[in-house]
Amino acid sequence: MIGLFGFAALWGAGRWLRWRPWAVWALAALWWLAIMAVHLPMVASDTLIDAVGGTFDGWLVFGLLGALVALYRLGFSALKARARPLAASAPAAAVPAPGASFGPAELDRYARHILLREIGGPGQKRLKAAKVLVVGAGGLGSPALLYLAAAGVGRIGVIDPDTVEGSNLQRQIIHADERIGMPKVFSAEAAMKALNPFVEVRPYHRRFQDDIAEALVAEYDLVLDGTDNFGTRYLVNRTCAKLAKPLVAGAITQWEGQLSVWDPARGAPCYECVFPVRPAPGMVPTCAEAGVAAPLPGIIGTMMAMEAVKLITGAGEPLRGRLMIHDALYAETRVIGVQKRPGCPVCGES
Ligand SMILES: [Zn+2]
Repeated sequence: MIGLFGFAALWGAGRWLRWRPWAVWALAALWWLAIMAVHLPMVASDTLIDAVGGTFDGWLVFGLLGALVALYRLGFSALKARARPLAASAPAAAVPAPGASFGPAELDRYARHILLREIGGPGQKRLKAAKVLVVGAGGLGSPALLYLAAAGVGRIGVIDPDTVEGSNLQRQIIHADERIGMPKVFSAEAAMKALNPFVEVRPYHRRFQDDIAEALVAEYDLVLDGTDNFGTRYLVNRTCAKLAKPLVAGAITQWEGQLSVWDPARGAPCYECVFPVRPAPGMVPTCAEAGVAAPLPGIIGTMMAMEAVKLITGAGEPLRGRLMIHDALYAETRVIGVQKRPGCPVCGES
């Protein structure tokens, strides 16, 4: 019975020592070949065959079945690899590697980042050299801006025409009761500087409009869009696509949020590829009209900051070519693949 015992031992050792699956399969194939060799006329001895156990035909069938399973698994993982969206072969980082250096206070502040294999010292330097523009200092902008500041993004621009109102504070946690009436961008600046004095904040107290869009986006490496206004959202998408800047865009309503990285310059679709039809004014209710659960912008806005950190440092796989939809009411999250639309007026061939 040594034959079967050998397979069991291989499987157990593979699990225990966390061998790669292919290594376990390769060793199993070798073991099977050895068992078959025992049955060869030139080696065949009754003692060996008895020790191995089973019959030649039995082992032959066993081997064929094993090969079938291996082939099935191989095909399955090949399919999975093909289904993976826009692999890491696309340039991951939007930011060139900088020569920034850190003082002792900054090293201490970012120590937990520097410990991460995917970020480390070089990633933290990239964050420091990065320039990120956040459009909207509302529900999504609040956590996104705070985490960008905490993460050490060197320059953070924020543009918003509004002032802080009491009804914002149920979810816009970057603002404070004592700052009601203050322009949101200055309130956000105060909160970010209080959290991390090492970052530069550039507040723009105005609407993101055609006349300034290109000049402003050109100054940044990456844009985060958290507006609830369709006109602005399409304009931000168009501007980012034209200037080849990755766009991390989130949207929320009531209990549901969505998030993606629109990046047509790096093979991903743009927002308009997937949402070509602009809703008629008034057709999609805003948060002010339909309501929104307080922590929802926290979830989606925080994920926007996470995507930004990944894009800047090159860690992991950003949501390029994927759209994440989160249903907070049922705590369900789905990620669907999205593709470039050839006739897209923003990023299609023209
Ligand atoms: Zn497009």
